[in-house]
Amino acid sequence: MHVCFDLSLERCVYMQVYGVFSRSNRGFFAEADATVYMNFMKSHCCYDAIPTSCKLVIFDTTLQVKKAFFAFVSNSLRAAPLWDNKLQRFVGMLTITDFINILHCYYKSPMVQMYELESHKIETWREARRVLNIILNTVKSSLFDAIYSLLKHKIHRLPVIDPESGNVLNILTHKRILKFLHIFDKKIPKPAFTGKPIQELGIGTFRNIATVQQTATLYEALSIFVERRVSALPVVDKEGKVVSLYSRFDVINLAAQKTYNNLDMTMEEVIRRRTCFVEGVIKCYPDETLETIIDRIVKAEVHRLVLVDRDDVVRGIISLSDLLQAMVLDPAGIDALFS
Ligand code: ADP
Ligand code: ADP
Ligand code: AMP
Repeated sequence: MHVCFDLSLERCVYMQVYGVFSRSNRGFFAEADATVYMNFMKSHCCYDAIPTSCKLVIFDTTLQVKKAFFAFVSNSLRAAPLWDNKLQRFVGMLTITDFINILHCYYKSPMVQMYELESHKIETWREARRVLNIILNTVKSSLFDAIYSLLKHKIHRLPVIDPESGNVLNILTHKRILKFLHIFDKKIPKPAFTGKPIQELGIGTFRNIATVQQTATLYEALSIFVERRVSALPVVDKEGKVVSLYSRFDVINLAAQKTYNNLDMTMEEVIRRRTCFVEGVIKCYPDETLETIIDRIVKAEVHRLVLVDRDDVVRGIISLSDLLQAMVLDPAGIDALFS
């Protein structure tokens, strides 16, 4: 089976890092401290981080997109590798982002049925768009390489394959990788910089935060997802105070509730109708330490924290991508997230 995957980042091995300077005001960390997480990720492979058993669903590219998204709901899936039977290989991934793109592309009004969603096959949709060829790693590649693949390609799902059989064994995510690190937390020396406030470390995005007003329509929210390519939107009131969080994951509720034909609903209504979500908004403050933030994001099992001031006004986003970039790739001198 022919598969295409990122080659090992050998160039990183040759990069001598004598103290690490970050892109913002993170300054220089002491060398030993700075490289702890990078070394951990280089010394563990994808196999170490995948669960001993898991359910993996693969879609044939001739499957109808509508059936695929209903299969997401009935199997509690977030993504599936795509198998092309003619080519006899994996060709890509289907994720909730694709569902968003399809809805956004074909929606006209609640009165008009989305013919394309009803009839298109996955392959028809892929032919109509410039889609990514599959990006995957083998179970033997390091977690460092896996993080690089996720951040460089700005994706959230990385299939890992058994190089001998070519079978996909699992789909790695930022969440899984950070959780794996957290399990070893007590066994690895805690770098001093984890005790510093997040604001001082400059980890996260602090400008031009994409938010959505609670009075905006769902279609407007989907437009922001499509145009800004962000993974979630803090839902705000008139004063910019965060009242909720709407993530790309939540859009699958529209398939579960069969309400995808009405994207004219207000965000207030969408939030009210939503099922299977995290209670409240998981937030953080600029003066909280990196250690506190890692603990909170891992325990809450969410992909990001909303950074707010004491009035609950949104000031930033700290996502797992930001944490992995700062803790693992910055020390190797690699800026995958912002390149
Ligand atoms: P989500 O956050 O909804 O799970 P992603 O950010 O991972 O979605 O996906 C963004 C786009 O990249 C989607 O069109 C998806 O199909 C595609 N994609 C995601 N992962 C991969 C991958 N490993 N290989 C190729 N394409 C991918
Ligand atoms: P994924 O596992 O696909 O990365 P997310 O973490 O984005 O998914 O979202 C999973 C659920 O957690 C969604 O219902 C989302 O609204 C919720 N969620 C994510 N981040 C936050 C947050 N900071 N505060 C509150 N809820 C959140
Ligand atoms: P993610 O897609 O969440 O893994 O994050 C990729 C990058 O986008 C990170 O630098 C995040 O801080 C940033 N980001 C995520 N959500 C938003 C948002 N709503 N507005 C602005 N930036 C964001």
